[in-house]
Amino acid sequence: MTLALDTAPRVGMVSLGCPKALVDSERILTQLRADGYALSGDYAGADVVIVNTCGFLDSAKAESLDAIGEAIAENGKVIVTGCMGHEADAIRARYPGVLAITGPQQYDDVVNAVRDAAPPVKSAYLDLIPDAGLKLTPRHYAYLKISEGCDHRCAFCIIPSLRGDLASRPPAAILREAAALVKGGAKEMLVIAQDTSAYGVDLRHAVSTLGGRELRAHITDLARELGALGAWLRLHYIYPYPHVDQLIGLMTEGLVLPYLDIPFQHASPSVLRAMRRPANDAKVLERIRRWRDAVPDLALRSTFVVGFPGETEADFQYLLDWLAEAQIDRAGCFKYEAVEGAAANALPGAVPEAVKEERWHRFMAAQSAISEQRLAMKVGRTLDVLIDEIDGDGGASGRSKYDAPEIDGQVHLRDAGGVAVGDIIPVLVEDADEADLFGVPA
Ligand code: SF4
Repeated sequence: MTLALDTAPRVGMVSLGCPKALVDSERILTQLRADGYALSGDYAGADVVIVNTCGFLDSAKAESLDAIGEAIAENGKVIVTGCMGHEADAIRARYPGVLAITGPQQYDDVVNAVRDAAPPVKSAYLDLIPDAGLKLTPRHYAYLKISEGCDHRCAFCIIPSLRGDLASRPPAAILREAAALVKGGAKEMLVIAQDTSAYGVDLRHAVSTLGGRELRAHITDLARELGALGAWLRLHYIYPYPHVDQLIGLMTEGLVLPYLDIPFQHASPSVLRAMRRPANDAKVLERIRRWRDAVPDLALRSTFVVGFPGETEADFQYLLDWLAEAQIDRAGCFKYEAVEGAAANALPGAVPEAVKEERWHRFMAAQSAISEQRLAMKVGRTLDVLIDEIDGDGGASGRSKYDAPEIDGQVHLRDAGGVAVGDIIPVLVEDADEADLFGVPA
């Protein structure tokens, strides 16, 4: 069976007004891109158009109203945000067909309105952000997308053909967005891209000046600057290139969380070659050992694919042995499925579904045992926990530095009266299972 993937809905943006409005537009678009939306440079190609208005002067209001009118005439599905959103009655009186009107900095409302007008296409094959349903990230954590596209050509993946080659955002734009997120209450930023560690390669790691300092368009420099903003900084989709060792240095300085999400996908050299995976270095185990020497509590999260064409029982056993050696803290596993347009579809040696199923169960059993052992090592320790939810019975749940939202585990707290969502509090870990920790505020 070959999977055909729906294309992402496209959003158009007309941004009027001052630099603050521009930052709002960038933030809205970043969230939408992170949610899998594509952008449209013209009205005709957009499924919905956002008009970010200015209402400072009468002339600016008139310009905003004209822009709304043009978007309605050219596209029809229009969401209005920005300063003129305060005058919703005036807008509605002239354009009753406007889908939604919000004021400035109401990012969540704008993104919700876009979701209503053009529901996102969720796909485990395309989305960087876990399928958290249609929930927006709460204010206390935020995804920060630093680049689009990818220069690699993994055999099972069609992202480069859909989203193009690597296109890194300028460091200043990322830092401006990150500063706004932290100012807006974000306690944790999750850096995402198709290949986070390749950030800036397309910009040839150009040096720019920021606040009098020189800054390379390079993941190490960017992570250092982002980490200095004071929120937890979590790195996703890192490939184990040699320069990742420098990120370990930032962890020892406390600028980056002791957490790396590395999508290894497999361990067997022949399968990795067939997959055409980047940074496919046989010495990865040795490097993991060195990383853990430097950062003993480093948490590694990864994803793997079983049943890739040509995967033999020996390849699979190699993967299990590697897993036992690498002691990956958290891992997801997918059974290989052909995706329409992927090069891997032409590979010989299709693995029967029953074999994929059996390998998947063996993988999950092995990984659960490793996760359980690694979590048990945290019992008795006091960990900082970022509170995500409060329940009605004096309990709460949150995450330690070792767990990303949605994909990893939680820390469940008892006797947590008085804590609020977004607080970071010390927690004494009393118990653990194969997924979660249990504890009490220390
Ligand atoms: S690194 Fe490979 S799997 Fe990831 S987006 Fe690029 S081509 Fe796809």
